[in-house]
Amino acid sequence: MAVSSSDLSTAEIDRKFVFHPFTMLADHERSGPPVVITQGKGAVLTDERGIDYVDAMAGLWCVNVGYGRSEIADALRDQANQLSYCHAFSSMSSDKPALLAQRLIDMAPAGMSKVFFGNSGSDANDTQVKLVWYYNNALGRPQKKKIIARQRGYHGVTIMTAGLTGLPGLHAGFDLPLPMVRHTTAPRRLWEGHGLTDAEFTAKLVADLEELIAREGADTIGAMIMEPVMGAGGVIAPPEGYYAAMRDVLRRHDILLIADEVICGFGRLGAMFGSELLDMQPDMITVAKGLTSAYFPLSACIVGQKVWDVLSGAGSQFGAFGHGYTYSSHPLGAAAALANLDLIDKENMLARVADEGAHMQAALRAAFADHPLVGEVRGQALIGAVEFVKEVRDTGPVAFDPALKVAARIVKGALDRGVIGRALPSADTVAFSPPFVIQREEIDRSVAAFRDAADQVLAELRGSGDA
Ligand code: PMP
Repeated sequence: MAVSSSDLSTAEIDRKFVFHPFTMLADHERSGPPVVITQGKGAVLTDERGIDYVDAMAGLWCVNVGYGRSEIADALRDQANQLSYCHAFSSMSSDKPALLAQRLIDMAPAGMSKVFFGNSGSDANDTQVKLVWYYNNALGRPQKKKIIARQRGYHGVTIMTAGLTGLPGLHAGFDLPLPMVRHTTAPRRLWEGHGLTDAEFTAKLVADLEELIAREGADTIGAMIMEPVMGAGGVIAPPEGYYAAMRDVLRRHDILLIADEVICGFGRLGAMFGSELLDMQPDMITVAKGLTSAYFPLSACIVGQKVWDVLSGAGSQFGAFGHGYTYSSHPLGAAAALANLDLIDKENMLARVADEGAHMQAALRAAFADHPLVGEVRGQALIGAVEFVKEVRDTGPVAFDPALKVAARIVKGALDRGVIGRALPSADTVAFSPPFVIQREEIDRSVAAFRDAADQVLAELRGSGDA
């Protein structure tokens, strides 16, 4: 039966009809959304009641140049008028994707050769896995197919990439990971490296990787995928010397390295690419989110010369390359990306990220370092996190009972105080990843709102005997 929606509020319509990602489905169907956002400008979102919120997460780590940028809106409108769509199959070409690919190769770390466009971080990482398989089939190594990722890494939600994602919540109920996925230890200092020096911690993580490769057999492993700084798994930066040592192991075993720069790419760490800043020297790079600052769904696999030579050489035995999306090389996405990259350059945003990032890191540490609920404050430039734990003993941290939903309650408290943050899955961690254009006063307001919210939750936990 058709349902008339005319008398319903937007929240009510949403509650009845929208199937939300990463949401407790029955809760949403019962309670509906906490807010309905209708506008955005700079780092501020406004709901349908006219209430403003500082978006301390830039959406999902993606609206880097801020909301409401007319430069990108105009580029999208002009492109839609000029050429709304053109595919890229069978050598078809249009101007904007070609210009964007050239620009990406010019910007990218040394050794990158070609750009394959997709629509999301997930499909781009899925493509990277297919490229690794194609590469090894072309080289006559059909058994070299397993992909190593890290526990708590986030690489997407397709059937392959949800398995690469090392978060149990993305596997539960889905029969994942697929059998060719392996996980190794994440560089989570608080949990895995408690009491170790950087050198000791790096040595432990490298030994774990070596042990995994020895157990599986290097001739069965095609690639390893890593985020330069891990985002959704907890905002985790590696210890000193980590990538150089990991890379040595991978090279020794002829295992390709994929840098998942979906969050770090285009300035989040104060450098254009995290892999460059942290000297990863990957064979392939995945970008999405900050490529268009989310004005259009666009992603890219940036492929190094070594891989390209095999795909286009020995790979030709398979005929035409049999992969691509209707929306690969979408001219609207490319136009948005070009306008977005212009803004990053013109407004000198990398310097801004470094300055405001230093301020945000100092403000987070000042507010939280001594808080009784806090296990660790971490991050770099404009990406940060606070992890809440019951206590930190000499032997290591003790987590809260997940049923207490400590981080989610703090995030809700901050929302009530006009600030949007994000509780990360499977740990009591709250993340901060604001638009690069966030004002200093907005950073301070966000940190203060979270501090107040954490104090309130602490009082509640003490009241219930849980802290
Ligand atoms: N890789 C990383 C590092 C990500 O953070 C994300 C999204 N959070 C993805 C891949 C998946 O991107 P998408 O949601 O666009 O598919």
